[in-house]
Amino acid sequence: MNKGKLIVISGFSGAGKGTVVKGLVDKYGYSLSVSATTRAPREGEVDGREYYFKSVSEFKNLIDYNGFIEWAQYVDNFYGTPRKFVEDEINAGRDVILEIEVQGAMNIKKQYPDAVLIFICTKDVDTLLERLHKRGTESEDVIHKRVIRAAEESEVISEYEYIVINDDIDTCIDTVNSIIISKHCRKEEREEFAKNLVAELRAYGK
Ligand code: 5GP
Repeated sequence: MNKGKLIVISGFSGAGKGTVVKGLVDKYGYSLSVSATTRAPREGEVDGREYYFKSVSEFKNLIDYNGFIEWAQYVDNFYGTPRKFVEDEINAGRDVILEIEVQGAMNIKKQYPDAVLIFICTKDVDTLLERLHKRGTESEDVIHKRVIRAAEESEVISEYEYIVINDDIDTCIDTVNSIIISKHCRKEEREEFAKNLVAELRAYGK
């Protein structure tokens, strides 16, 4: 059995990647890694569903115990991907989505060269600002910091294998799913299958 893949989804804050990820899980059944964070919960967020909410000392403790496959500081908080869930899922042959920022994504790329790195963006900056304001979950100051951060993040877009523009949400979800499927169909992934098929056909011909 092939191992599952790590599907890394990054994108500017406000590009709609959370909605894309939710669509991938609901419509196509992907596993989703729930990260730990030191950020305070937003209204409606539930511990263990959106994030595991941790104090800074709890988070640092998890780093010390090798509890994360990657972690990073983003704006004023820490975020990390818990190791056990991800390793169990990929060993069971299931694809796992990590919705993480760019430092974490680069870290994953080094550790898991066959991870699929996908960057979600809006078609322009105006759309990004409009979505951040409409969401209404961040103060002006935080929005400002996040847009500055987006400018920094845009420097590493070229490290991603795929760039998907989120103009229409359903199209975006289906496009990302197609990318993942096409990865699984690559001949490198099908070597064992192809070998067995050829052997069977040869045996039939004898
Ligand atoms: P937010 O505070 O808006 O939920 O997330 C802020 C940023 O942190 C987003 O870009 C999100 O993708 C990223 N993030 C969430 N979880 C993780 C994680 O486990 N690791 C890393 N490196 N980034 C994360």
